Amino acid sequence: PSANAHPYPLLIKSLLLSGSRYEKNREIVYRDTMRYSYATFNERVARLANVLTQAGVKAGDTVAVMDWDSHRYLECMFAVPMLGAVLHTVNVRLSPEQILYTMNHAEDRFVLVNSDFVALYQGIAGQLTTVTGTLLLSDNATAAGELPGSVGEYESLLAAAEPSYAFADFDENSVATTFYTTGTTGNPKGVYFTHRQLVLHTLSMATTLGSLDSIRLMGSDDVYMPITPMFHVHAWGVPYVATLLGVKQVYPGRYEPEMLCQLIKGEQVTFSHCVPTILQMLLAAPGAQGHDFNGMKVIIGGSALNRALYDAAKARGIQLTAAYGMSETCPLISCGYLNEELLAASELQRTAYRIKAGVPVPLVEAAIMDSEGRCLPADGETQGELVVRAPWLTQGYYREPEKGEELWARGWLHTGDVATLDAMGFIDIRDRIKDVIKTGGEWISSLELEDLISRQPAVREVAVVGVADQQWGERPFALVVAKDGQPLDAAIIKAHLTPFVEQGLINKWAIPSQIALVTEIPKTSVGKLDKKRIRVDLAQWQEA
Ligand code: ADP
Repeated sequence: PSANAHPYPLLIKSLLLSGSRYEKNREIVYRDTMRYSYATFNERVARLANVLTQAGVKAGDTVAVMDWDSHRYLECMFAVPMLGAVLHTVNVRLSPEQILYTMNHAEDRFVLVNSDFVALYQGIAGQLTTVTGTLLLSDNATAAGELPGSVGEYESLLAAAEPSYAFADFDENSVATTFYTTGTTGNPKGVYFTHRQLVLHTLSMATTLGSLDSIRLMGSDDVYMPITPMFHVHAWGVPYVATLLGVKQVYPGRYEPEMLCQLIKGEQVTFSHCVPTILQMLLAAPGAQGHDFNGMKVIIGGSALNRALYDAAKARGIQLTAAYGMSETCPLISCGYLNEELLAASELQRTAYRIKAGVPVPLVEAAIMDSEGRCLPADGETQGELVVRAPWLTQGYYREPEKGEELWARGWLHTGDVATLDAMGFIDIRDRIKDVIKTGGEWISSLELEDLISRQPAVREVAVVGVADQQWGERPFALVVAKDGQPLDAAIIKAHLTPFVEQGLINKWAIPSQIALVTEIPKTSVGKLDKKRIRVDLAQWQEA
């Protein structure tokens, strides 16, 4: 029998309460322009709710945000869903055509626009079909925006609004947030998450960050700053966790290496997360040379963490942990966890496990399947498609039911990644199914090759894709960026790979038939290697 006579819905507003209860005076900081306490933060969320209500926003409406990582974004992550509205975190790095597509597809009603994106917004405003009003976000309250449909400027309206709001209870299965996948093929697809899902995701992540493994990634006395865009899966949901825990939070705005270093040092940031390319950029930035990152803990996700980056970060005092997830999974699926046995192992072995994709976090089930839907053994060897179940996975793609059914074939969410599972629960991502290189009947992992090539000391960055080959079907092709002023050519890289063939780590077909040295590798809107574009642009490098 159901024992739910007095149901208590899992709503985002509960996450807001607990942090401010513990640490009212802890700060939320925005660049070098703004800082305030959790007590003020709570008031500002209520003020924003009043401003939005005044502007006509109602439960069920979709409210879009176009901003860099900011305290305002954090306020929207609470106030918008707490009103029963849906927060659309617009990926401002997509092309204007794709941004327009996502905003019309999501049926955005109201849009908050940073002054940096006013020109972009002006360009698409005439074609937006559902927007009825906008609000200007600006670091300079006096900056006059030419924002079409604006009801005013954020800070001035907040200052004039009431500092309290009676947020209603409602169904925990109401949608709270939506955003679009980066669209590696075709149009971006909309994923969506409910209050219940975000609350459970937050609790599981808090457990993972706070109490698993020997590294406590984020506890109450840490200082948190994301280096992941808040439009990319709500900065992986970590701002919700930080708020729940009452941790000091620092928001860097638009990413500038100088400002990031200044904030890390000045605000004593101890915990962050980003994709590998962003950390590489930060470590290589002129302003970061000689900078002491000692004691910082950083989660690397969104792409594989390779050993070269792990070691490079360690040399600068940063402890890296790998995590795995995707837009469709809210995103957290797994995170590095070394059990007693591994903690006692050699450093080389510990590192080998630290850079795998981790172990499923609490409440997540993971399995690997063959193409017929049969579960494969978790022996650390057998490869199959990684499939997952958890309370916080998108239930489909917004207004695209067929694609949603494909995603959820046989009741498991299909990640599109090839992986192995081992007896300790470790997920090892071998490659994306579509990036595996099939050469003469052999399967070569582009990720593994990238890892090995990146260990050559002169290599700064590398991407490997398969190119069509008459004889072999496909052959690996590598794009390589050299570190400043260091000698590097195809012969050096081939010579570097030969011992791995002799050790049996890779077969000789894995040595790329073509290696091009370039000054830059194309990246996606969230800073990952853009293999789709590399394939399209390939001819240019092949001739070079
Ligand atoms: P996109 O597919 O546009 O990159 P996502 O952010 O949803 O958007 O990316 C999810 C994908 O990123 C995963 O399916 C996987 O291929 C890759 N990924 C995420 N974390 C890891 C990891 N720790 N190791 C290897 N690949 C990862």
